[in-house]
Amino acid sequence: MSWSDRRSDAARERERTIYNSSRWKKLRARKVESVRHQCQRCGRLSARLHVHHRIALEDGGDPFPKIDQLEALCASCHSSETLTEVAQRKRDEEFDLGSPDETGHRWGLSAEEKAQLKGR
Ligand SMILES: [Zn+2]
Repeated sequence: MSWSDRRSDAARERERTIYNSSRWKKLRARKVESVRHQCQRCGRLSARLHVHHRIALEDGGDPFPKIDQLEALCASCHSSETLTEVAQRKRDEEFDLGSPDETGHRWGLSAEEKAQLKGR
């Protein structure tokens, strides 16, 4: 059962109303401007930051709180941190494995050389 399935229709409807309101859109735009379109977690510039409530609406959070009660995150930070970590680990593994047929494969490189390659 997914996360959204657990929520009641009434709660979903309430959030939909909030997120469609011009009040929310203005607040959201102010937040994105205040962080200069940079993700507050990784600092990546993004045209499509997700603005989320530090205190979730379903936990009784204010739908239109002060700007510092909101957090602007890029898409990858917005998904759970666990997911982000798993993805990072997977990229590292793929990088380390490479393929012996690949031109300039990474097998046999020292940790230092790999770090340099990754830093490009
Ligand atoms: Zn981010």
